[in-house]
Amino acid sequence: MNHFERDADGVLHGEGVSLIDLADAVGTPTYVYSEATFSRHYRVMDEALSGVDHLICYSVKANSNLAVLQLLASLGSGFDIVSAGELARVIAAGGDPAKVVFSGVGKRDDEIAAALRAGILSINVESGWELERCAAVAEELGIPAPISLRVNPDVDAKTHAYIATGLRSSKFGVPFEEALPLYRFAHASPHLRIVGVDCHIGSQIVEPAPLVEALERVLELVDTLQSEGVQLHHIDMGGGLGITYKDERPAPPKAIGEAYAARLAPRGLQLLVEPGRVIAGNAGLMLMRVLGTKVNGTKTFVITDAAMNDNIRPSLYKAWQDLVPVTLDAEKEEQVVDVVGPICESGDFFAHDRPLQTMQRGDLLAMRSTGAYGFSMASNYNSRTRAAEVMVHGETYTVVRPREQVAELFASERLLPHVK
Ligand SMILES: *Cc1c(COP(=O)(O)O)cnc(C)c1O
Repeated sequence: MNHFERDADGVLHGEGVSLIDLADAVGTPTYVYSEATFSRHYRVMDEALSGVDHLICYSVKANSNLAVLQLLASLGSGFDIVSAGELARVIAAGGDPAKVVFSGVGKRDDEIAAALRAGILSINVESGWELERCAAVAEELGIPAPISLRVNPDVDAKTHAYIATGLRSSKFGVPFEEALPLYRFAHASPHLRIVGVDCHIGSQIVEPAPLVEALERVLELVDTLQSEGVQLHHIDMGGGLGITYKDERPAPPKAIGEAYAARLAPRGLQLLVEPGRVIAGNAGLMLMRVLGTKVNGTKTFVITDAAMNDNIRPSLYKAWQDLVPVTLDAEKEEQVVDVVGPICESGDFFAHDRPLQTMQRGDLLAMRSTGAYGFSMASNYNSRTRAAEVMVHGETYTVVRPREQVAELFASERLLPHVK
């Protein structure tokens, strides 16, 4: 459920704010987030896990705006980071470093050091060399490194190949049979403190079976570790819960939460999860204006002022994103169109052959379900300034990131001093 709905005149609102008024005030393209929706999604997840001691570590990469992090921190959320940059964001937003886990397939020494100095909960280690680097940096700083190993349970998450991460052949995690020797190494090291075990099998997972299967495989490892005297504090099951973009019917978080709790509560292990998309995805949309339309051959194109640099999901993943007119008009006919941005790449499209109310220059369009992996993947390709970001709350809103200005794009670039 989200708080983007139409009023009696067919005008799309974010909570109590008309998106027409918002576009007039802030311009386009603009990402619009709903505070009530973020809070609601967090609480649904929290309640779904109420059967077991748990910590939600929101995956910062899904949407890393400081206001989003601040809001989630205020609700008690921890954070899953993948870089020192994301750690700095969490701290700047008032997040608690003691609730932070650090994921990612390759961490630099300075990032490991930043994490240790901040006092994070766990470094989720993905290889033997990374474990050695954690030990070395920890020794140098005199701060023991809290670690979990990210294991690769070799289950098929049944999702897009680019976002499936739990197969044996993926670059993520360590194979099961390597985990045990690495845990033994960690157990023997005075500079490493084993806190947990971690996995993350992919994203946009809509059925619970692969997640439960992954947990069962991880629990086998936990049993073996316990028999060797290695006590864990938590099991981190990663993120990956899917959302409805079109007609997907993802399993409710409650079903997954209950399956987790049934297996974990009796063991007295804390459960960590790292949801990103399920919290942020449908809490945001991207507002854009139609620059014009044209007919080339058999195709009608609707050209928008947003482009693939603003939202790369359709180009990168062939993702289907819902496109809706901000003002529904029953008088207008439907047309089958391609919705495209102005960038000189054929990959710069939002939809192919999409039935849409007839659009003309100046009309507003909204791309739904863009709260996750939208702005956070935006770039400045074609020297386009990044969109504004706005958080609506009730009848009002806050610009949580003003539109980037052209001067900011190259402010730190330098001319060659020897070229006249
Ligand atoms: C991306 C990622 C997540 C979040 O995934 P969602 O599908 O957005 O829930 C969680 N954990 C790790 C390790 C990730 O890489």
